[in-house]
Amino acid sequence: MIEKIVMTESGWDADLAVVTGDGTVPQPGPGQVTVAIEATGVCYRDLIDRDGRIPFLQTPVVPGHEGVGRIVAVGAGSEWSIGDRVATLHRNNCGDCTTCSAGETSLCQSGAWVLGLLADGTYARHLILPCNGLYRADKDMDAGMAASLHCTFGTAWRSLVTAGKLVKGERVLITGANGGVGAAAVQIAARFADEVVAVVRRAGHEAYLKSLGATQVVVSKDNRFHYSIAPADLALDCVGVPTFNAAVRSLRVGGRVVVVGNVTNERSPVNLGHLITMGKSVIGPGGASPQDMAAVLAEHRRQAFVSIVTEEHALEDADVVQRRLLAGGLRGRMVLRA
Ligand SMILES: [Zn+2]
Ligand SMILES: [Zn+2]
Repeated sequence: MIEKIVMTESGWDADLAVVTGDGTVPQPGPGQVTVAIEATGVCYRDLIDRDGRIPFLQTPVVPGHEGVGRIVAVGAGSEWSIGDRVATLHRNNCGDCTTCSAGETSLCQSGAWVLGLLADGTYARHLILPCNGLYRADKDMDAGMAASLHCTFGTAWRSLVTAGKLVKGERVLITGANGGVGAAAVQIAARFADEVVAVVRRAGHEAYLKSLGATQVVVSKDNRFHYSIAPADLALDCVGVPTFNAAVRSLRVGGRVVVVGNVTNERSPVNLGHLITMGKSVIGPGGASPQDMAAVLAEHRRQAFVSIVTEEHALEDADVVQRRLLAGGLRGRMVLRA
């Protein structure tokens, strides 16, 4: 049976390798657990990892950082139990640096267990994880949605609510709104904001985004959408360099933009004079923390979010799925079932 997917080298010349095995459960060390993965999300960051843009990538490595499953083995000192349903954070944390002590564990710079880059990730049937690289997943949530919840709804919540300080009645702009984070962000923003402006590069996503709560959908091929919309209080840029400048220009005086997209390899030029004179803020949110995930799950229980999973595939199709994501134009999240 298939055991895992392995990226043997960065880049797109070689396909991801399919590795088979006999289904033996790998045994965790102290402070670790083994998770039987149900599903894993295929995230744009997986493509950035594969491109070799993260300098500390170590190959060969199992890709992926969005997994959900049940614990099937626990190491000594684990606070988790066999049978617990858990989902992955992006990495572990040290537990005693300044940011960890302040409860901001997702900003810890000492967590070396970085899934898909420094440690084997979620494109696998079984995954060994440190106990604090996890959070408790909803018992009943669909596996695909639960797998990517942290990196989509968690990122969107962290960006809009925790870091962006979104308040009732504001106007929110979201670029790359058809992607996984964007489609989650539209739903979260619609629960607070009076107006949610969704920006996409290609036509065809209008009805989908309006069904998620967007009040306006702007199709912008040239990324000059700031000329055609009313000023926003808060922008979430899910794309990066192609849209960042227009997102900043779309803000009202004193507005803020939260950046989560980094899809191209260039550095962004920033007009400092514009930021200074217009009093605008650029915010990097960091990843969603366990507290952010508790808030997302509470909000989901209050009023269920619409799943942003649009396609499910078998784990062995990982290479094909990544190449389709690379080609662009998809909506929501594709997931792989173990
Ligand atoms: Zn992700
Ligand atoms: Zn730390």
